[in-house]
Amino acid sequence: MAADYYALLEVAPDASSDDIKRAYRRLARQLHPDTNADPTAEARFKEMALAYEVLSDPDKRERYDRYGPDGVAPSDPFGGGGGGINDIFDAFFGGNSPFGGGGRRGPSGPPRGVDLEVVADLAFEEAVFGARHPVEVRTAVACDTCGASGAKPGTEPITCLECAGAGQVQRVRQSFLGQMVSNSICPRCNGQGQVIRDPCDTCGGEGRTVEERTFTVDIPAGVDTGSTLRLTGRGAAGPRGGANGDLYVHVRARSHDRFTREGVDVHCDLPVSFAQAALGAHIEFSTLDGEEDLVIPRGTPSGKEFRLKGRGVPHLERRLRGDLIVRALVEVPTDLSPAEEELLRQFAEQRGDAVAPEDAGFLSRIRSAFR
Ligand code: ZN
Repeated sequence: MAADYYALLEVAPDASSDDIKRAYRRLARQLHPDTNADPTAEARFKEMALAYEVLSDPDKRERYDRYGPDGVAPSDPFGGGGGGINDIFDAFFGGNSPFGGGGRRGPSGPPRGVDLEVVADLAFEEAVFGARHPVEVRTAVACDTCGASGAKPGTEPITCLECAGAGQVQRVRQSFLGQMVSNSICPRCNGQGQVIRDPCDTCGGEGRTVEERTFTVDIPAGVDTGSTLRLTGRGAAGPRGGANGDLYVHVRARSHDRFTREGVDVHCDLPVSFAQAALGAHIEFSTLDGEEDLVIPRGTPSGKEFRLKGRGVPHLERRLRGDLIVRALVEVPTDLSPAEEELLRQFAEQRGDAVAPEDAGFLSRIRSAFR
């Protein structure tokens, strides 16, 4: 069966050369194997490009109209001298093309959905060691009823008559500089190239519905308040089958009652009794990794810091961990029993330390002097 080049380009036999060009651009975008996962798309693209090669050339088109496909000797636009499907594609979408730019999305393609943001509230340990954390987002998802097309099941969107599917309309106006041609988004189809005559009842033609979704986010070890994770494609669905935006997860790490972070290092205080500080001790101590035995050397002054290597926060990119810095704080007893007080007084006497006498009245006078 002879190929119908007009049908391949989805134009009428009396289509103008501009119509043919627009139809080609639209189909090139739609069928290009980079963007169309359908395995038959590439073959259809080649046929369509061949039809365009003939119909865009007035000479060849005339012979085709008169004699059919055999009247034109088809040359292979994809073979030989290095040309190819991508060159054709790039000619339309590369560089300064108004259809190009980021995302390789033409005006007749549905727009991408918006990016969403959500805050993940993490416990201190979750931020340090990583976690699988659920986040809830109110997002747009493809409509199940119409399969995201926006058209009532059994119907299909039709090509916009205003822009012939190009998604853009050209305006020519005269100015003192001469004739100005400007392209603007087609007001009828809003740049879609298609209009929906019978909108889907579920989504009203949007091709998407709003839903609450819960995503489980893999939080890597070492994040902190201010860290942001990007989940590609987990944002809102675009209208009428448009690609999903991304989901940005902003981390907020809660504080801890014992540990504080400083970058990858973690700080904490260790209460040490006066006797332990003076005589030295082994103290059982809870680190982020569990109980550890910390050696307090004899004669440890209050405020002395001990660095536990590799007991801090993991670096986000390396396998290393920061340190845990433990500060010994010598506690002064305030609840002395009479026996303890007696021992301390003996101790002071041995050292020749002048201490307050055992006179409550005197002590209260001292207190008021410091008030
Ligand atoms: Zn729908």
